[in-house]
Amino acid sequence: MWHKPAAIVAILAATIFWTSGNANAASRSKSNQIKYEYVPPKDPAHQPILDQMKQGRALEHLQELLSPIRLPYPLTLKVAGCDGVPNAWYNDEVITVCYEMLAEILKSAPKQDLPIGVSRADTVLGSSLAVFLHETAHAVFNMLQIPVLGREEDAADQFAAYVMLRLGKDEARRMILGSAYHHAIQMPGPQVTVPIRALSAEHSTPAQRTFNILCVAYGADKKLFADIVEKEFLPKDRAEVCAREYDDLNFAMTKLIGPHIDKRLAGRFHEVWARTVSTRRAFLARQ
Ligand SMILES: [Zn+2]
Repeated sequence: MWHKPAAIVAILAATIFWTSGNANAASRSKSNQIKYEYVPPKDPAHQPILDQMKQGRALEHLQELLSPIRLPYPLTLKVAGCDGVPNAWYNDEVITVCYEMLAEILKSAPKQDLPIGVSRADTVLGSSLAVFLHETAHAVFNMLQIPVLGREEDAADQFAAYVMLRLGKDEARRMILGSAYHHAIQMPGPQVTVPIRALSAEHSTPAQRTFNILCVAYGADKKLFADIVEKEFLPKDRAEVCAREYDDLNFAMTKLIGPHIDKRLAGRFHEVWARTVSTRRAFLARQ
């Protein structure tokens, strides 16, 4: 469409306005912007979850882990009761994770450690971490105006998997497989019959989310995750393209998110995780 000169000037002015607005937002950005809030549960059955989280300083640890992200405004991590709905979301600079969702993760944890070197505690820690990181991705995309190509829900899962892979080999493996477990147990079996409308959902299906997480992990480190292909948790056909999928993700994260990370603080990421996870893991192992 042809625009008249006045219209072009208006478009240019608008462009400059938004560009300078973004620059101002970016210049206001700083690290250590994570806040947290433990909202008392509405359902008394969730009180032990709050007690455990407070005792294990779960939100304080997440605050420290996410502190390297430079944000223009504070981002609050909140746990709250959601009237029976197991959900989590990001809205208006607040991430809300429902006690119901954490209760579901705890309930679906295996009775015993898994034979692939993932403990019961890892399934709880990995799944909970994945939920918070997934919502952090929505917050980061929104607050930093990161362009997202493709489905944002898939991008948020990829963001979460990418961050977990930065934890160091052993911890990355435990958290990736621990988080994949939570989706994998929702797979009904090798053959699926679903109503067609289930395929129109905003989120990918549990099976797709499992394969996507495993593919990012295998693409990042074929040796560390070799057994997931050998044991056919990730089909060979998909595994063949995972290095390329990971490269695309790595490129996007480096180019789009990297400039918003405080590299000095991020250098401590590994150590912060190792220090904070040991208390949570020991605590969960006693249950
Ligand atoms: Zn989401």
